[in-house]
Amino acid sequence: MMTPFRTSLKYVTKESLILHRSLSSSSSASLSSLTKQKPKTNNDANFQPLLDTFGRRHDYLRISLTERCNLRCLYCMPEEGVQLSPKSNLLNNEEIYRMANLFVHRFGTKKIRFTGGEPLIRNDIIDIIQNVSKLKSNGLEKISITTNGILFARYSSMLRQAGLDSVNISLDTLNSDRFQLITRRNGLAKVIKSIEAALRDDYDSVKINFVPIQGLNDDEIEDFIQLTKDSNLEIRFIEYMPFDGNRWHPDKMISFKQLINRIQSRFNVERLPLRTIHDTAVLYQVQGYVGTIGFINSMTNAFCAGCNRVRLTADGHLKVCLFGKDELSLKQAIHNGLNDDEIDVLIREAVKRKKKQHSGALNIAKDNTNRPMILIDQRKFLSTLSSSSNDKNFTHIDPNDGQVKMVNVGEKSSTRRIARARARIEIGSDVMNKIEYNQIGKGNVLTVAKIAGIMAAKSTSNLIPLCHQCPLDRVDVQFHLDYSNEEIIVESICETTWKTGVEMEALMAVSIASLTIYDMCKALNKSIVIRDCCLMAKTGGKSGDFNRV
Ligand code: SAM
Ligand code: SF4
Repeated sequence: MMTPFRTSLKYVTKESLILHRSLSSSSSASLSSLTKQKPKTNNDANFQPLLDTFGRRHDYLRISLTERCNLRCLYCMPEEGVQLSPKSNLLNNEEIYRMANLFVHRFGTKKIRFTGGEPLIRNDIIDIIQNVSKLKSNGLEKISITTNGILFARYSSMLRQAGLDSVNISLDTLNSDRFQLITRRNGLAKVIKSIEAALRDDYDSVKINFVPIQGLNDDEIEDFIQLTKDSNLEIRFIEYMPFDGNRWHPDKMISFKQLINRIQSRFNVERLPLRTIHDTAVLYQVQGYVGTIGFINSMTNAFCAGCNRVRLTADGHLKVCLFGKDELSLKQAIHNGLNDDEIDVLIREAVKRKKKQHSGALNIAKDNTNRPMILIDQRKFLSTLSSSSNDKNFTHIDPNDGQVKMVNVGEKSSTRRIARARARIEIGSDVMNKIEYNQIGKGNVLTVAKIAGIMAAKSTSNLIPLCHQCPLDRVDVQFHLDYSNEEIIVESICETTWKTGVEMEALMAVSIASLTIYDMCKALNKSIVIRDCCLMAKTGGKSGDFNRV
């Protein structure tokens, strides 16, 4: 039997205990040196709100400071990182300030958030914040940052003094092994120190961004909510979004509805009113707790109607919608020597092209989750198979002496024959995650298992005494990670144009592929079970077709 370790294990680490203790006692001491500037109203002669054709006013600018990152979160970046733009293509400190200045003076931008990549790996980050914070005398109200927290503790007080108002720190687990699995790097203790530093330095708000993913960290949702008991933190649950190559799958996304039902069954929570009409977070609070819980439901509830934000990418492209493909290169505009009036016109035109709403994140996700061709082939293949029939002749028994024999197929004609087999491996979702994200010490499990399965099919006649050596036209082995049942489904297809069928070859392929997975993962889970190894379908040959219903 498989161990239900995902739900029974409680991840309480030294780090999480320190965090809890420290958060519980965090003071609200303010930095005496910090002089909060009261925002002034924009009185620039060129000021005109940045409106789209639906009357939405855009006064929130998100600036990505870099494409680089010191982590490699599974849901965000491939292990090898992303293709980086040459440094000369990125906005430099001066250009960032010029754009921020233009947005504040001309469009009345009230809030700027710096993000990335990891914004704190820029060594001019303090200068950037300091420069941009000068715009507070012209109507800019708030400067925020979203960081992974690896470096934040080091800079926290300097950033606060430079004019940073609020911070979002991304953290998806309190367990250091799991942190390593999710981010592909070490550093949980640093992130925890950063949260402590942010609370100590009296930021206007300290939010923790948490992306709940089925089978990865969903068992820590309650632990994160507990952090709001004594600390003025907001835990933000962000629906897992599909990005190019981040292996998003609908089964892994936990929707707001699922989350809130679960939370309501365990905590006495009340809904809080929206802070502004632009608020993207739905807010709740556990009764009697100090902090709050926010939900960013980008996947299940588009907040297009109140959208007030535009984005500037690190290479200087303006994006008017996170899910839209339209981009305007402001870096190019700067490079071409356009003045602020001309850039102003370009930006207004781009915003005028903004659609009323995007086509729905779930629809957009379908682009990324199209069934691979091989599975379409398999479905087509299955539908061509008809009903089963049983072979009543014992062809492997010699009628003369009752002994086993290898059938003489010399007189048989060659026909096209296909067989498909399947096995299930109960292995547990933690090991599945490690397999999926190639975190198993012995190597890439699915690739090795696939090769093993194909070679096994080709070696069938060497291992199964009465099997003929059959020329194979095709062998394929596929794996489906079924997180809801915590099992891997292994499927094979074998095809030949010959005198005997390929059922044994297909069964060999799934058996050996399954045993290979077992072998490579047995150190992580001793209770792996391989079961239901069976023929799913066959077609061709005298014995007729078979289709397991
Ligand atoms: N490196 C910084 C950090 O991690 O906070 C800032 C950049 S990161 C892209 C900004 C936020 O996007 C993080 O809170 C991260 O959790 C979130 N994020 C990244 N990929 C996501 C995805 N596929 N679905 C939902 N949120 C995601
Ligand atoms: Fe880096 Fe942030 Fe993406 Fe993680 S979520 S890889 S920390 S940019």
